[in-house]
Amino acid sequence: MMACVRTQVGIVGAGPAGLLLAHLLHREGVDAVVLEARSREYVEMRVRAGVLEQTSVELLREAGVADRLDREGLVHEGISLRFDATDHRIAFTELTGRSITVYGQQEVVKDLIAERIAAGAPIEFEVADVAVHDLTGDAPRITYTDATGRGQELTCDVIAGCDGFHGVTRDAIPAGALTVYEHVYPFAWLGILAEAPPSHEELIYAYHERGFALHSMRSPRITRLYLQVAPDESIERWPDERIWEELHRRLAADGFSLTEGPVLEKVITGMRSFVVEPMRHGRLFLAGDAAHIVPPTGAKGMNLALADVRRLAGAVTDFLRHGRVDGLDAYSDACLRRVWRAEHFSWWMTSMLHRAEGDDAFQRRLQLSQLRYTATSPAAATSLAENYVGLPFDAT
Ligand SMILES: Cc1cc2nc3c(=O)[nH]c(=O)nc-3n(C[C@H](O)[C@H](O)[C@H](O)COP(=O)(O)OP(=O)(O)OC[C@H]3O[C@@H](n4cnc5c(N)ncnc54)[C@H](O)[C@@H]3O)c2cc1C
Repeated sequence: MMACVRTQVGIVGAGPAGLLLAHLLHREGVDAVVLEARSREYVEMRVRAGVLEQTSVELLREAGVADRLDREGLVHEGISLRFDATDHRIAFTELTGRSITVYGQQEVVKDLIAERIAAGAPIEFEVADVAVHDLTGDAPRITYTDATGRGQELTCDVIAGCDGFHGVTRDAIPAGALTVYEHVYPFAWLGILAEAPPSHEELIYAYHERGFALHSMRSPRITRLYLQVAPDESIERWPDERIWEELHRRLAADGFSLTEGPVLEKVITGMRSFVVEPMRHGRLFLAGDAAHIVPPTGAKGMNLALADVRRLAGAVTDFLRHGRVDGLDAYSDACLRRVWRAEHFSWWMTSMLHRAEGDDAFQRRLQLSQLRYTATSPAAATSLAENYVGLPFDAT
């Protein structure tokens, strides 16, 4: 027999969006249940994004979940654009007064899960068969099978679809109610995590005729490196030696030497821009990757997810406490303004830095001209910097 439970907010997905939403609601005294398909260990080990905008750091601080982030996060005051084998630094702090913090997404996830468990608030891992129902009524429901194999039903006031790009909540919205905007890029990123100290104190975005490369890091001991590869590339064709060889080539610059180390993980990820409008259907609200995807070149994915739920938490609280619907009604449009700014910035960075098959010499000249302009014009550099460090929440 199915067990029936009532809560105020049913949250599908324990990624950065679902977990921060649950935490912000908990601080406001709003009940929520978080349902996650994977195990706790899996989500805490899942390596993805690693750059927090200053706006995100401030949000996590205000939410009281930034103690470890403040201790262990690496504050970066700029990045390098590397082209013509030379570094051109974009000095974020000089240009905008703001910075970014390198802190792995899985660390944000660990901090938020620990907080929720310490608070004794409900979070269920390893659930299956999640389905959402009655979205346009005032008591939407979630049915699922819990970790013990028992059927469950959760009746809610509001459902938050925070289940990422491959989740089920977006697909539960009837065809015709959503408009999809999508762009698939003709390349992918091969990413590795290496047990090696970073070879440079800041991120390096390298433009090279053989394709883009990125030098990043997760900690003073762990380097994160990416190579542009073909969209249908197979990881089997990339033994570690070949990856290092290609990284050495694309990251070459005067006075730079790349430190190698054991490869802890390697994965190929496709590049896509994707947005659905609106980010709401009745009492279902989509947040984070469930509603939008950006190519990782602009380091925006996790930051957008956090910005969405900041707004959603406020709107849901106003609704449940005071019966006000204006915040819920404004949610989608307000989020989408920030989403489209990030979509454009991520597309722009991607277009400037990657070589697509079939690009001709004209295209290459345009890219180099854009890179030189960005590196030498304070106005152009400031535009990159202010987008990268994160525009204020209400600026877009
Ligand atoms: C492989 C990869 C690498 C990335 N690298 C970068 C990067 O380098 N830089 C960057 O800025 N961004 C990167 N991103 C993007 C960034 O990680 C995402 O934007 C971010 O995770 C969005 O958070 P979210 O909470 O919306 O979604 P997610 O983190 O995807 O969380 C969704 C959660 O929902 C769960 N879930 C899914 N379906 C169900 C279901 N049916 N029932 C219950 N739970 C479900 C998932 O297991 C997951 O835990 C990367 C993404 C991927 C996939």
